Amino acid sequence: MKYNFVMLNTILKITNNLVGSMEKIVGKDNVLSSYEERFVYSTDSTNITNPKDLADVIVFPENTAQVSKIMKYAYAKNIAVVARSAGTNLCGACLPKRKGIILDFSRMDKILEISKDNLICKVQPGVVVEDLQKAVEEFDLFYPPDPSNLKVSMIGGSIGLSSGGPHTFKYGSTKDYIIDLEVVLADGSIMHTGSSCSKNVTGYNMTQLFVGSEGTLGIVTQATIRLIPKPEAKRVMLAYFDDLEDTSRTVNEIISNLITPSVIDLMDKNTLKTVESFYPCGLQTDKTAALLIEIDGFKSNLDEQYEKIIEICKNNNSSYIQTASTKEEEERIWISRRSSFGATAKLAPNVLTEDVVVPRENIVALVKGIQEICDKYQIKTCIMGHIGDGNIHPNMALDLRNTEERLNFERAKKELFELALSLNGTLSGEHGIGCEKSEFINRAIDSNNLKMMKQIKKLFDPKNILNPDKIF
Ligand SMILES: Cc1cc2nc3c(=O)[nH]c(=O)nc-3n(C[C@H](O)[C@H](O)[C@H](O)COP(=O)(O)OP(=O)(O)OC[C@H]3O[C@@H](n4cnc5c(N)ncnc54)[C@H](O)[C@@H]3O)c2cc1C
Repeated sequence: MKYNFVMLNTILKITNNLVGSMEKIVGKDNVLSSYEERFVYSTDSTNITNPKDLADVIVFPENTAQVSKIMKYAYAKNIAVVARSAGTNLCGACLPKRKGIILDFSRMDKILEISKDNLICKVQPGVVVEDLQKAVEEFDLFYPPDPSNLKVSMIGGSIGLSSGGPHTFKYGSTKDYIIDLEVVLADGSIMHTGSSCSKNVTGYNMTQLFVGSEGTLGIVTQATIRLIPKPEAKRVMLAYFDDLEDTSRTVNEIISNLITPSVIDLMDKNTLKTVESFYPCGLQTDKTAALLIEIDGFKSNLDEQYEKIIEICKNNNSSYIQTASTKEEEERIWISRRSSFGATAKLAPNVLTEDVVVPRENIVALVKGIQEICDKYQIKTCIMGHIGDGNIHPNMALDLRNTEERLNFERAKKELFELALSLNGTLSGEHGIGCEKSEFINRAIDSNNLKMMKQIKKLFDPKNILNPDKIF
């Protein structure tokens, strides 16, 4: 579209009004509106920036009342609103596709209550996941969902995507811990979705509707979270294999021996090599794959399980098992796993991560298929993920400025989704859909289900102002 002088002046006036109105609600110190600031907020960890899609203003609310006022204003004027916590999602879930307001929740970062008797806590959306975990550990309690970037990712974003992590295999993901949400709806009204009771079948399960809804149905301003007692102890090991089938058989055999590891994660050869070259921690780089296995529970129960797992690994041709007998050794094994994204990021200017999931029986076909697709398109890829859940993350290193590489990534992504669907899997286990996968959603969801989802969206957000152009 070509802008003439009069049109530009009108746009400027509307934006100035918007900025002024936001400053009135939250104060000048809680508003950003310069071009540079809006540019920074035009992307998230997905690596896509479109300079045409800049938000008009970034607002840092400090309480629910302010969020409600902002939504009333946006609703009256049909302005898009994108909720943002740490902005580390990997699916374009925070991109301001229709300009408008970005609500940054980093200043609503208080843990309001931890109740050991009720096994719950109440938090604001800007609380960092690791800070919450540490705070509840002081009470011998445990909040298990642990996205690998838990040092920065926040509860609001975790709820937006129902984030998981290595502990999901035994403990479930964010959706399994949220029991009540305070939500500001599109028109600014405030609603509670559940209660402080961990059991509740009083009406529809509205809480679960909001968890994983990517900010498209309402804005979360407070969450009540179920907690569990902290496991007394844990043990960690890294078992290497020369063959993927052996790796997968080991996982199945551990489970059929009635052991539920708290973590059972996979790293492929490229991941082992890449991590070791940038963050040397003694990994064996000539192996096909490694399993990071953690068990937890009472100290007195762990030795027997640990020995049994070692026996199962050896029976399935594990060529080397790195055990950990001190905290430092445990930490070294964990650092290798948590460094995999960072290490891949050193291979090329951009890393794009996918998040496909299949029934566990199809995991070998998935991993081999991903390797073939990425070889075909010459994309350097480090594959890791939560093998116990069938959830695999190919971390693809490339240069998005290079048109051919970008096109190859798009082709590989499409084939990757087709592969997962052909193996009875789906598009995302924990990263969400955002705008990056929305064009594929009709392939992955039953058409009547999708129709219902769109009606739910319309009911909650009739003007389509809440994070538009995401999921669908
Ligand atoms: C290095 C790296 C490792 C990662 N590892 C994992 C992993 O192991 N497991 C995993 O699941 N994910 C992982 N992720 C993806 C992502 O970081 C997580 O899902 C994370 O929990 C998102 O939190 P955030 O605070 O960054 O959310 P954001 O990116 O800010 O937001 C995510 C979504 O939630 C919505 N949202 C944010 N705040 C609110 C609110 N107050 N109300 C309503 N909606 C809101 C946003 O609109 C958006 O749709 C990883 C990402 C990176 C970069």
